[in-house]
Amino acid sequence: MPMPIIEPFRIKMVEPIRMTTRQERERILDQAGGNLFFVHSRDVLIDLLTDSGTSAMSAEQWAGMMRGDEAYACSQSYYSFRDTVRDIFGFKHVIPTHQGRAAERILFATMCDSGHVVPNNTHFDTTRANIEYRGAQAIDLPIPETLHPGKHHPFKGNLDTNGLRELITRVGARTIPLGMVTVTNNSGGGQPVSMANVSETRDILAQHSIPFYLDACRFAENAYFIKRREPGYAEKSVRDIAREMFSLADGCTMSAKKDGLANIGGFLCTNDDRLAQQERDLLILTEGFPTYGGLAGRDLEAIATGLQEVLHEDYLEYRIASIRYLGNGLLGADVPIVQPPGGHAVYIDARALLPHIPQNQYPGQALVIELFLEAGIRAVEIGSVMFGKKDRETGAEIPARLELVRLAVPRRVYTQSHIDYVLEAILSVARRRDRIRGVKIVEEAPFLRHFTAKFARCD
Ligand SMILES: *Cc1c(COP(=O)(O)O)cnc(C)c1O
Repeated sequence: MPMPIIEPFRIKMVEPIRMTTRQERERILDQAGGNLFFVHSRDVLIDLLTDSGTSAMSAEQWAGMMRGDEAYACSQSYYSFRDTVRDIFGFKHVIPTHQGRAAERILFATMCDSGHVVPNNTHFDTTRANIEYRGAQAIDLPIPETLHPGKHHPFKGNLDTNGLRELITRVGARTIPLGMVTVTNNSGGGQPVSMANVSETRDILAQHSIPFYLDACRFAENAYFIKRREPGYAEKSVRDIAREMFSLADGCTMSAKKDGLANIGGFLCTNDDRLAQQERDLLILTEGFPTYGGLAGRDLEAIATGLQEVLHEDYLEYRIASIRYLGNGLLGADVPIVQPPGGHAVYIDARALLPHIPQNQYPGQALVIELFLEAGIRAVEIGSVMFGKKDRETGAEIPARLELVRLAVPRRVYTQSHIDYVLEAILSVARRRDRIRGVKIVEEAPFLRHFTAKFARCD
């Protein structure tokens, strides 16, 4: 029998979490207007809202925090950060930013103008927003399998390369200042992209002299999936696979809050000297001097160490196994999820679980509320609350394509018994699914309403 996969760390410092009674949770939820973004973290037992910036840092990262060189210019911490990024990512210019979206803003401010079109397998919401802010258009080109939660595909995050060819023919290469691929495909369910797909995407773009960038937030998780699933990569190290992937690109944007194993930070990379100069000029305007870019020296140290640690294969084996464990546990009890489980999160298909709740009564949000009431678990709706659109003429709401609930797992934070608890709670909610009611929105903002909307349960 193979040995079990265990958490490849021991715990040196602990942070208490607090159980509440169902009655307390009813009151807490009421005060938050049914929106989990307003629930104080001290009232949450297991927080699966996001994997972003929620990682536990290692002893070595904390030691780096103490060594951080806080010199304004040319601090030693910048050089250890830059050299690590160059070593793993291979790009010439490394520009630190306070998080991923700052890298995006600077990239699109230098490369995009109104009327431009930027394709991606699936744009993350901040990526899309920063492109649209420039007056350009963000186009998603996922493979068709992405739209079917139950369908299996080893690389369900892939970009639709035929769609890319058609787009280039339709709008013309000069309208496309760059093309992107997001690894793993976050908005598409944390699904990986194959090396073959990255390579083909790059070739298509290169034929038209269009620069190619990676949104690299979960590059290590993606590289691990390539090792396990793509022919020819089983014997390669994850580090070499990551390097190969980056060698195909002209640059990347990165949020160190994901596979940087840090609580804050990001960076922008490019091989283009002229662009790098413009980007640094913008960086000084809004982020800071090019050797710190909105971060403290200690943050740069934490990221440099985190980027090394995230490539440890025993870490990645545990990481991907723990997501798979949660996903398979749900599938085993007939709770419908996006298949196969992704790299950082499991997505429950709320519409399939709660078929009696119509989309205009937000089955995803109803489930999020039940998970909190049941067990103090915080998840997030990714469905019509987040992506529903208003019809311009009638004002009627056009629902999102999918009604999902995301359970994002913070890195190195929870143990298997926490995950067992989450599983048990979800199964208990699923058993009484017929009695779960939908919700209505009683208050909402015109943009990004999911952050601030208030909900009430339908009668
Ligand atoms: C988180 C994320 C970003 C933005 O990074 P922030 O650090 O949150 O600004 C961009 N792209 C993807 C795929 C992400 O997951």
